[in-house]
Amino acid sequence: MMFRRFLTSIISVLLIIVIITAYIKYHTLQHVYAGLDQNSGDTTMVNQINKTDKEWQESLTDEQYRVLRQCGTEPPYSGKYYDFDGEGQYLCAACGNVLFSSETKYHSGSGWPSFYDVIDESNVKTQEDHSLGMKRIEVLCASCGSHLGHVFPDGPNPTGLRYCINSVALNFKSTQKSDSTHQK
Ligand code: FE
Repeated sequence: MMFRRFLTSIISVLLIIVIITAYIKYHTLQHVYAGLDQNSGDTTMVNQINKTDKEWQESLTDEQYRVLRQCGTEPPYSGKYYDFDGEGQYLCAACGNVLFSSETKYHSGSGWPSFYDVIDESNVKTQEDHSLGMKRIEVLCASCGSHLGHVFPDGPNPTGLRYCINSVALNFKSTQKSDSTHQK
């Protein structure tokens, strides 16, 4: 009898902890996403590139087209930049828009190139993505509208964000003198 009462108390305490944790996490998510939503659609100073679907198909490789134009995802640990540490900038593989800097790139262990910030907030757009039964925030190039990846609220300081980007959506431009560009 005593044991059953003890067990019930333990379960109640654990349940309360789970509810409080879920509540805090939900509010943190709402806060982060609210901040991102304010940036979405802000395309000031960004040149708009409008191509037909046929033109995109002709100008991109099959894998680039699948990821960039059809919201695809490259397999984890397969891309050319997830384990790459060159110093420079990452440009949109579809239009050349400057997106990320090696200064904010870090090893997240996710298998995709990860950044905790963008070079300029107006160069990317974000929007809610409800595919695969999940609520995620999709990251798109503000210039050409191509799909780049997603942003999650589990990144390091100072932003707490993790921009999880497909390698195939990026082209690296080195700022080191010996190595001009790393493109395939
Ligand atoms: Fe682009």
